[in-house]
Amino acid sequence: MKSITANDSIIHFNEACYTALNEHLKVNNFSKIFILVDENTYEYCLPNFLEKLESNALVEIIEIEAGEEHKTIDTCSGVWNSLSELNADRKSLLINVGGGVITDLGGFVASTFKRGIAYINVPTSLLSMVDASVGGKTGVDLGALKNQIGVISTPDLVLIDTTFLQTLPQNQMRSGLAEMLKHGLISDENYWNKFKDLSKLSLEDLDELIYESVIIKKNVVEEDPFENGLRKTLNFGHTLGHAIESYFLSHQNKKELLHGEAIIVGMILASYISTELVGFPRKTTEEIKTLFLSYYDKVAIDKSEYKSIIDLLKYDKKNNHGNINFVLLEKIGKPKIDCLVDDSIIIDAFEFYES
Ligand code: NAD
Ligand code: ZN
Repeated sequence: MKSITANDSIIHFNEACYTALNEHLKVNNFSKIFILVDENTYEYCLPNFLEKLESNALVEIIEIEAGEEHKTIDTCSGVWNSLSELNADRKSLLINVGGGVITDLGGFVASTFKRGIAYINVPTSLLSMVDASVGGKTGVDLGALKNQIGVISTPDLVLIDTTFLQTLPQNQMRSGLAEMLKHGLISDENYWNKFKDLSKLSLEDLDELIYESVIIKKNVVEEDPFENGLRKTLNFGHTLGHAIESYFLSHQNKKELLHGEAIIVGMILASYISTELVGFPRKTTEEIKTLFLSYYDKVAIDKSEYKSIIDLLKYDKKNNHGNINFVLLEKIGKPKIDCLVDDSIIIDAFEFYES
């Protein structure tokens, strides 16, 4: 049985999840239980979840449409209305069963409904298990601006049941895996080494790796709750990765790129820049590129597009009080934050990636 405490909430893994859940329901005597799902987790995750849930309280299901485009205040209004119409009160519980969209949005809805009701997160995508499950960030997007509205709050429990991953599409698996690879690169060479042969990883290996990834994120968040230093290292690969993600999103001739797929490109670029600027071994940068491209399709970015992507980066910087937010690596497990990088080195990095 595995359980860890992160911030104020307890994260349970696999078989420990349902014992903890049912005990929590018994002790707290909630007036009603609401379960928030999207159309996919309604189909693939909810039936198994309901089978494990033991409670005499009335259970109501609230379903929203799947996808980041629905992570909006409008969707929250819909859920708040449903809660109200279904007579939710301050002793009600919301259980969010889904990926990061459901846990971010559901966490925000619960934290604000009647000034806050209890909630539990059941992350069902790999990304939400290893990333969104820790740190207390909840919220929604505002137009094109991601996560602009939200609050920090912690769920009563987080339940990570990796059997949900059996129905997760492969591209979503790869997207979540990118964050695990990042956790290895920024904090732990031993952990990173476990990914050296990605194709040979078994499902049991994956369980253990998910557990370790959650511990890495939890340690970083707990050491730097206000994002003054160490927590910024979680941004490794994200400065350029976000710019590439936004660029692809806003250009219809580009194929859809999931967050993790963009971060993979961002991490290869950041590794190259690390070699140029802070002594990260060239051999390791080459190894990272080879490993990542053995598992992720090469993303085609034309020379003529580099400048537009760099411009997006600058826009990002403006939003961040002009601070340049590059996280580089001196070696695996030793990140360096707030690094200044010239455009010319970024262009060299793109050329290295495309070569
Ligand atoms: P998502 O919630 O959109 O899930 C991805 C897709 O997988 C969706 O279509 C969903 O319906 C489907 N899905 C989820 N679980 C499934 C399962 N078991 N079987 C079949 N299909 C399943 O997106 P995501 O990648 O999970 O999370 C991305 C979101 O998380 C973003 O909005 C991001 O801002 C947020 N996020 C939050 C934090 C945080 O700290 N709070 C951290 C990282 C990301
Ligand atoms: Zn990310």
